[in-house]
Amino acid sequence: MKTTPEVFDFAIVGAGAAGLHLAQAMMEDSFFRNKKILIIDKAAKDVNDKTWCYWETGKGKWDKIAHKIWEKGYFVTNNRYQLLEMGPFKYKMLRAIDFYNHAKQQILLQANFKWVQEEVLNIVDGANVKIECEKHSFQAIHVFDSRIDKEFFQNKDSSIRILQHFKGWMIETVSDVFNPDEFVMMDFRLKWKESASFTYVLPTSKRKALVEFTLFTPELINDADYDLMLKSYVENILKVKDYKITEVEQGVIPMTNYPFHKKSSAYITKIGTAGSWVKPSSGYSFKNSERFAAKVVSNIKNGRVPSKGIGTNRHRKYDSIFLDVLKNKNELGEKIFTAMYLKNPAYRIFRFLDEKTTLAEDLKIIASFESAPFIASFFNVVKKSKIVSGF
Ligand SMILES: Cc1cc2nc3c(=O)[nH]c(=O)nc-3n(C[C@H](O)[C@H](O)[C@H](O)COP(=O)(O)OP(=O)(O)OC[C@H]3O[C@@H](n4cnc5c(N)ncnc54)[C@H](O)[C@@H]3O)c2cc1C
Repeated sequence: MKTTPEVFDFAIVGAGAAGLHLAQAMMEDSFFRNKKILIIDKAAKDVNDKTWCYWETGKGKWDKIAHKIWEKGYFVTNNRYQLLEMGPFKYKMLRAIDFYNHAKQQILLQANFKWVQEEVLNIVDGANVKIECEKHSFQAIHVFDSRIDKEFFQNKDSSIRILQHFKGWMIETVSDVFNPDEFVMMDFRLKWKESASFTYVLPTSKRKALVEFTLFTPELINDADYDLMLKSYVENILKVKDYKITEVEQGVIPMTNYPFHKKSSAYITKIGTAGSWVKPSSGYSFKNSERFAAKVVSNIKNGRVPSKGIGTNRHRKYDSIFLDVLKNKNELGEKIFTAMYLKNPAYRIFRFLDEKTTLAEDLKIIASFESAPFIASFFNVVKKSKIVSGF
């Protein structure tokens, strides 16, 4: 006998970065106190599957659980160490497990929230959205869905795509090697062939650091090759021979102008990667998720479409051009980032990536680049935009 599905005001599918930021923002607002909210994830969220880094000014919402905060960082190319002019920004590192535990603890204390661990098999759109799982079904007036639209995986030619893929080792050294007050944002001294690839170093103490080799390329590389690059960076560039790997992190982030944000409906709002909350040209989304979750909450309270005002067309166009250049002229990666970081203070770049710059500031950043590949990509993107509605 089928039981009647439990009904909620809001359901959040996916307790990842976006889902938990949204749950947190709802929890903090009295408007939602009498709303029944379901949060459902197939995973227990009890594994440290990511390290999130982000920049922000002043005190942040997650400082109390941050793993490390830096005020000083470098961009490295051709043995040149460029100190980042971060202005009021600090660069912060948060272990995903600390974020999950913190959010889960808070959610479980709320009488109006229900946390369910089950895989969502299907969501049926319409008034009273149905959420179908293997064992249970639920209903909600509005669903926030972090599952990536299937069409994204099927129709690969519909958008510009490259991948941000990386592997990182948390290493522990036998002697003092690192300055824990300074991080390396990008180091281009070691590259995978002639691709847009670099390493970053996030030291948490004199003997511990997360060293991550990252590529922005159309294709993945073999797993053993990430290890080769990491070994080479640690041993030949950092010149550390005596160390052990205590943790490994690996991931792939789609860098794309696929119009995820257009996949929402009147009753279902796509969130996170699935809702264009990841900045296509950088792969960062942690801070965006915090900002966009607050925006969703404010939209709901003001009777607006929940996703209204998330992302701007101007910045989507910049992202598309940047992705097109990297896709077609991947070997220019180092040159592009070098121009950006040597000709602009880091605080301007951070504000640009946060989509908070004025047009005049944007032009300063755009003027840093060698124009030919960008002009070619501009026309490529404009040509494609006539075919792709996502632009
Ligand atoms: C290893 C790694 C490191 C990263 N580092 C950074 C960083 O330093 N800074 C930064 O800003 N960004 C970073 N990112 C990018 C981005 O912040 C993350 O990918 C972020 O987690 C995206 O948030 P999300 O909520 O969309 O997805 P996720 O955090 O992956 O959450 C999605 C959730 O949905 C659940 N789910 C999926 N399908 C179903 C289903 N059918 N039923 C039930 N539950 C389901 C999953 O179990 C998961 O918990 C990183 C990404 C990776 C992979």
